[in-house]
Amino acid sequence: MKLQDFITRVADPVKLEFKGKCYDAGAASQHCSCCHRPIRQVFMLKDQSGTKFYFGSGCIDFFKKWNRPLWKKLDASRTWLHTWIQQEVKATRAARKSDSLRLSEQKYSTIKKEAAAAIREYHKKTGKEWLPEHLFVLQNLLNAPKPTLKPASRSRWLDRRAEEMRKYFSAPTLA
Ligand SMILES: [Zn+2]
Repeated sequence: MKLQDFITRVADPVKLEFKGKCYDAGAASQHCSCCHRPIRQVFMLKDQSGTKFYFGSGCIDFFKKWNRPLWKKLDASRTWLHTWIQQEVKATRAARKSDSLRLSEQKYSTIKKEAAAAIREYHKKTGKEWLPEHLFVLQNLLNAPKPTLKPASRSRWLDRRAEEMRKYFSAPTLA
C-alpha cells in the first residue's frame, strides 16, 4: 500500500498513537480499520482528536515504514499478546483435561462398585464359589492393576475400561 492510500483509507500514520491497548477479541467480531477484515488480535490506536482505529496483527506492519517508533511499540505488544494467548489456550486445555479426567475417574469408580456388588450378590444368592464366565471376566477386570498414564491417556483408559466392565455387567444371566 502507498502512503497516500493509507492516509485516505485510515489516517496519517505519523499522527496515530498507541497507548498499549491490545487484546484478544476471541469470537467477538472486530473489524480492522485498515483492511476491514474481522480480526482477533486487536490493537487500538487513536489520532489526536481521540478517534479510535482498530488494527489487526498483520496490518500493524504498515507502520514499519511510516512511523517506526509506533511500529516498535506495536510489534512488542504483538509478541506479548501472542504469548498471552498461547498461555490462555494452554490453561484452558489443562482445565478441560482435568475436568474430563475427574469425570472418567467418577464413572470408573461407580462402575467398579457396581461390579463388585454384582459379584457379591451372585455369591450370596447362589451360594456358589465359582463365578459364571461373564462375572469371572468382570472380577479379573476389577482386580487388574491400573497402568500409570498421563492424564489424557488415563482418562481414555478409564473410559474404555468402564465401558468394558459395563458390557459384562449387562450380561443377563445373574441367576
Ligand atoms: Zn487489517
